[in-house]
Amino acid sequence: MSLTDIKSLSREALEAQFKTWDEPVYRAAQLLDWLYLRRVTTWDAMTNLPKTLREKLRAEYSLQTLELARKQGAHDTTQKFLWKLADGAFIESVLIPANPALYGEASDRHTLCISTQVGCAYGCKFCASGLDGWKRNLDVHEIVEQILSVERWGETQANAAERETLGEPAKPVPGNSRLVNNIVVMGMGEPLANYDNLIAALKILNAPWGGGIGARKITISTSGLAPQIRRLAVEPLQFRLAISLHGATDEVRNRIMPVNKKYPLRELTAACDDYQKLKGRMITLEYILIAGINDSLEQTRPLATLAKRLFAKVNLIPYNTVEDLPWKRPDEATCEAFLAALEDQKVTATLRREKGHDIDAACGQLRLKTEREIVAQAAAEAAGPPEAAV
Ligand code: SAH
Ligand code: SF4
Repeated sequence: MSLTDIKSLSREALEAQFKTWDEPVYRAAQLLDWLYLRRVTTWDAMTNLPKTLREKLRAEYSLQTLELARKQGAHDTTQKFLWKLADGAFIESVLIPANPALYGEASDRHTLCISTQVGCAYGCKFCASGLDGWKRNLDVHEIVEQILSVERWGETQANAAERETLGEPAKPVPGNSRLVNNIVVMGMGEPLANYDNLIAALKILNAPWGGGIGARKITISTSGLAPQIRRLAVEPLQFRLAISLHGATDEVRNRIMPVNKKYPLRELTAACDDYQKLKGRMITLEYILIAGINDSLEQTRPLATLAKRLFAKVNLIPYNTVEDLPWKRPDEATCEAFLAALEDQKVTATLRREKGHDIDAACGQLRLKTEREIVAQAAAEAAGPPEAAV
């Protein structure tokens, strides 16, 4: 049986474990410091912990990191990380330099978009993440590690830059920077379908002893799992909520999002109403603009009605084309007209204008591409070298 990873544990759980080992409580604080502040990747690096304690930890827990399989995107632009997990599965995280028009407050910082599952079971017709179905939920530490791994990568970048300016070898200074200030749970998978691991991971990322990222700087996106939205509404932490709406009528949503058959708009909006009432927080409605599907100006009327009822703001996102899928993004004029029509109806709305196309920015695309390449390569290898062919 595989070991529980140390980064799946809350502080309380860790302290309870140390108590059973008759270790003083301050040892737990030291360990957390190594894990989340210094972000070390081996037990041996934890030099202020007695060797015997390190051995006990090693025997009881794993200390896994993510292996960077691929990276796309230039420095200071959107960068996409493809991670290989311990079982060989792939997931993605996307690092986005601050854009005031996106989530959270304006800042000169970075947002990391993280994954919560390998694949997705919800099968939205336009999305690459669901194309090959659902494989498994991410464990708590695999969600947490996405932030830590990107921050470790950020450190090596900072050190390389420093080395260049100073003309000397830079010393590694682990833990000296927090690269990620905002999290959006909008990568691969449906976060609310992996509810318990998601919340446990976000609590670690939010805790002052963990990631130290404010709950208000964490946005969870869902395709519309009404019962879990209600659960989220009674969580003590004030996460932000984004709903992947993409259609303001059941007719449109049923065409592109199978989840709408299970939780039609009436049910989804009732759950959002409750969330809004309990939390008193603004919800964001995500609306991908897909040519000929949901981009006609008539659609702005039910969308505006919904947004006003939920006190929600609308994020319009021109569709990113996905290999093998027929959907297209509307032209710029159509997107701008859609935005203007919403604004005319007194809805707070934004339109994403940057080019995500460059690096397959929509969720699931890099992973799909890599998995398909690996499958093709394996098939080629199985077929044997060309000279072996008759
Ligand atoms: N499963 C969750 C979170 C992950 S998807 C959800 O659906 O909300 C994150 C967002 O990316 C969703 O709003 C999703 O609809 C959107 N998305 C998926 N494929 C896309 C594409 N090709 N172009 C633009 N946005 C896309
Ligand atoms: Fe899953 Fe979200 Fe993609 Fe739909 S949009 S298939 S829920 S990841």
